[in-house]
Amino acid sequence: MSDTYPIAPHGGALVNLLASDDAAANLAAEAANLPKLVVNERELSDLEMLATGALSPLTGFQGEDDYHSVLETMHLADGLAWAIPVVLSVGDDELHRVGGAEAIALCPSEGAEPIAILRVTGQFKRDKHKEAVSVYRTDDLEHPGVKAMYDGGDTCIAGTLEVIALPGHDDFVNYRLTPAETREAFRERGWRTVVGFQTRNPIHRAHEYLQKCALEIVDGLLVHPLVGATKADDVPPAVRMQCYEALFAGYYPRDRAMISVFPAAMRYAGPREAIWHAIARKNYGCTHFIVGRDHAGVGTYYGTYDAQKIFEEFEAAELGIIPLMFEHSFWCNKCEGMGSPKTCPHEPEDRVSLSGTKVREMLANGERPPQEFSRPEVADILIAAMQA
Ligand SMILES: [Zn+2]
Repeated sequence: MSDTYPIAPHGGALVNLLASDDAAANLAAEAANLPKLVVNERELSDLEMLATGALSPLTGFQGEDDYHSVLETMHLADGLAWAIPVVLSVGDDELHRVGGAEAIALCPSEGAEPIAILRVTGQFKRDKHKEAVSVYRTDDLEHPGVKAMYDGGDTCIAGTLEVIALPGHDDFVNYRLTPAETREAFRERGWRTVVGFQTRNPIHRAHEYLQKCALEIVDGLLVHPLVGATKADDVPPAVRMQCYEALFAGYYPRDRAMISVFPAAMRYAGPREAIWHAIARKNYGCTHFIVGRDHAGVGTYYGTYDAQKIFEEFEAAELGIIPLMFEHSFWCNKCEGMGSPKTCPHEPEDRVSLSGTKVREMLANGERPPQEFSRPEVADILIAAMQA
């Protein structure tokens, strides 16, 4: 079965909540008579990931026991590793409208047809302070993940999902592979080991180097850019995708590397999100996962290697997927190649290293960063996007 190739999903079986055609028609008819709830952009991303099994073994929005268990122990109530709660929150007005219903029709936007039915199993108060300090390690509203969580409602409605249709998308349609589809793609290519790379940024030489170092020891590479909600100053997904395509066209072996998108919204929860990202990539069939410096971090909320250290809090078998930890990498003029502090003995002045601020400044001025830092094809796409 391709469901467990090349690695078993988290919890053992790949979840699929999407109804078959006949069942979907029945669900749609039932949904027409249910109270409706519009799901916000972030929770819609979660719904899509739940539907396809990217969040296996979850089969819906989590209940109170799992919620507190995840916050307190980074495990589900049944003991399975899990780092970030997946909940559906509602405000007081919505709660008044749908509270007490046994089933709720979930809609992707106001006036749109329902795409799922939530079979309600309970409701509980969202403990926002506890969630902030547990998941984000801060209660600071300047943190974009904390802010988004506080902007959500105060009550969570838990239940299992029956999905009528996946949320519609008009972008990246050729890249929206579900976990079953990436697994099938790996099987077709004969990849028995696959490394996943999470990104929400354009790929510069440093990240290309990490991917290729990892690819030297596995069969295939899945570049898996996150395309759900990000903070406003991140590079938009459409621009990033052009950069990835240019890189793949010029520098990646087609039979060893593929791109597919990850529909999740960013939490910016640093270490906990690294675990969550790794588990989701296992569900997509990755056997290995790259964890760089400050993975999923923002500002100075997390230490440079916190997202790597957190893996030590789990037994390797609990996660299954193997994290590959990397340090900061760069081009070194003396080595005449890419390296990191692990492999290059030279001085900082020998290394081509630019701050994110400096790179943005150069691109905004229409100037390519050195080709040892960015491939010129990528630089040109970013320059064009910044000047558009
Ligand atoms: Zn060197």
